Amino acid sequence: METLDLIIDFHKNNPRQGPGSQQSTIKALQFLPQLTPQTQLLDVGCGTGAQTMVLSEQTPAHITAVDSSKEFLSILKHKVLQKGITNRLTVKEMDMEQLAFAPESLDVIWAEGAIYNIGFSRGIREWRPLLKKDGYLVVSEISWLSTERPQIVDKYWTEVYPEMGTIAEKTAQIEEAGYIPVAHFVLPESDWTSHYYHYYEANEAAFLERHSHSEDAKALVEENRQEMKHFEKYSAYYNYVFYIMQKR
Ligand code: SAH
Repeated sequence: METLDLIIDFHKNNPRQGPGSQQSTIKALQFLPQLTPQTQLLDVGCGTGAQTMVLSEQTPAHITAVDSSKEFLSILKHKVLQKGITNRLTVKEMDMEQLAFAPESLDVIWAEGAIYNIGFSRGIREWRPLLKKDGYLVVSEISWLSTERPQIVDKYWTEVYPEMGTIAEKTAQIEEAGYIPVAHFVLPESDWTSHYYHYYEANEAAFLERHSHSEDAKALVEENRQEMKHFEKYSAYYNYVFYIMQKR
C-alpha cells in the first residue's frame, strides 16, 4: 500500500484528521456576522467532516465541503445523508490548489488543519479572489507560540513544515495578502490530546492488524508516536492557532 493510502487508512476512522474541537469551531464562528441561508460557505480540506458537521449545525449557511481524498469524502457523504441535509451541504472532490469557484462567489472560506497542504501564504493569497467583498477566511494553522524555542523543536517542525511561523509573522502575512486580521486564538491542548491524539492510540492496534503488521504500517505508527511524544514535551512552544480574517 502507498504511504498516502496508509495515512488515509490510519486517519479515516478517527473523528477528525487534525487537532480541533466542536468548541473551537464554535468560538471561531462567533467572530463572524450572523450567517443566513444565502451564505455560501466553502470548507476546504474537510476530511471526514468533523468541522463541516458543526458548521451545518450551528449555521443555516449553504456549505460546500471539498477534499482531495475520496475515502474521507465518502465518510462525510454518509454523515450528510444520515442527517438529511443534502439540500444545503454539498460534498465534492477538489484540489485546494485549483478551487473551481467563480470569482467573488463565496461569503466564507473555512479550512481547519488543512491550509498547510498548499502553504499558508500561498493559500490565503490564491483563495482571496473567490471571496465576495468583505468576505471572511477562517483557517487554523500550526504556529510558533514563542520566538525562543529549543533547537530540537525548531528543527523538527521546520523539516515537517518549512512555513512554520509565529503569530506575529502569520498576522503580517494576513495583512500583506489583503485581509484585516479580525481575531486569532490558540487552540486548547485538549484539542490535540482528547480530540485527536487519543484516537491515534485507540486505533493503533486495529490499524496494525488490518495491515498484518507490515513494516510500512509499523513505521507510520512509530512516526505518530514520536509526534505525540514531541507534543507532550514541547507543546509550550507550538500549537494550532485559529486566524479569522476579512477581505479588505
Ligand atoms: N479539516 C479536517 C481535516 C484536516 S487534515 C479536520 O480538521 O479534521 C487535512 C486534509 O486536507 C485531509 O483531509 C487531506 O485529505 C486534505 N488535503 C490534502 N491535500 C489536499 C489538496 N491538495 N486539496 C484538497 N484537500 C487536500
